[in-house]
Amino acid sequence: MDIHPPTPLPEGYLEFFKALESWQNEQSIRLRKNFRHSKQDLPVKVQEHKKPLLSQINPHIEGDLLQSLLLSLLAFLETSRPSVNDSVQKLKANLRQLDFDNLVKAFLKPKESEIIAVANQLEIPEDFLIFVLDHALRPVLRLIAESYQEDLAGNFHWDMPTICPICGAKSHFSRLRQDDGQRIMFCDRCFSEWKTRYLFCVHCGCDHPNDISYLSVEGHDAYRVYVCNKCHGYLKTYDERTSGRPVDMYIANIGTIYLDMLAQEQGYTNHDDDYHS
Ligand SMILES: [Zn+2]
Ligand SMILES: [Zn+2]
Repeated sequence: MDIHPPTPLPEGYLEFFKALESWQNEQSIRLRKNFRHSKQDLPVKVQEHKKPLLSQINPHIEGDLLQSLLLSLLAFLETSRPSVNDSVQKLKANLRQLDFDNLVKAFLKPKESEIIAVANQLEIPEDFLIFVLDHALRPVLRLIAESYQEDLAGNFHWDMPTICPICGAKSHFSRLRQDDGQRIMFCDRCFSEWKTRYLFCVHCGCDHPNDISYLSVEGHDAYRVYVCNKCHGYLKTYDERTSGRPVDMYIANIGTIYLDMLAQEQGYTNHDDDYHS
C-alpha cells in the first residue's frame, strides 16, 4: 500500500491549539467556583428522546456568561491569531447589538441558520463566528459534561456513536483503552467519552471483520484510521495498547490531520457532509 509520511502542519498550528486548550482550562478552573449545573437523569433522558442531553434541557447558561467568555477569547485571539484581527475587531465593536441569550440557544439547538444570519449582519465570516461561539462556550460545556462522566463510563446505551450524547457535537476520534482494548469515543467540544464496540463501523454499524481494517503510517503505529468497506467511512483512533500511555486526545485529534488526508486520498469519508445536510 502506498503510504505517505505524516504531512507537516502549517507552522504554529499545533501551538495555537495548545494555547487555546490552555485558555479553555483556565476558564474552566475560574468558572468551577461559581457555575452550578443541576444534574439530570442522563440514562432516562437519552432513552426517552434518543437525542443529546443539551438539546433536550435548558442548561441555564446565561447570555452574560457567554459574553464575558467571548470577550476573553477575543483578547486571546488578538495576541495569538493576528490573521483574524479584522473579524475580532468588528465583533468587538458590535457586541452590544448581540442577543447573547439567544446565541446560546441557537448554538445548542443547533440552529446554525440563526448564527449565520448574525454573521451576515455583522459582515464577518460565518466560520469565524461559529468558531468563536463554539470555543467560548466550551469551558462551560466541559463543566456540565463532567457531571456525567460516571454515567457514561458505566452501563450506558447510546446508539449514535459518532454524536456526543451530552453536547451533540460530532466526534472524529476514539481511543482503544490500554487495559482491555475497549473503544472509547471522544468529544473535542465538551471532552465527554463514551464506549462503543471495537470491530464496528461507527457510521453504518457494519461489524463484519473482513470489512473493517485500519491504515497507519510507519513509525506512528498507535495513531490509526479505521475504515469501513461498506460505507467508506473512517474514524481516527489512538491505540493506548501500542504506545502504553494515554495522550491529550484534543491535541492528538488535531495533530493527526495527516490521517484524515490519508483516508480521504483513498476515498474514505468522515460523513460530515451527510451530518450537515
Ligand atoms: Zn460533547
Ligand atoms: Zn461503515
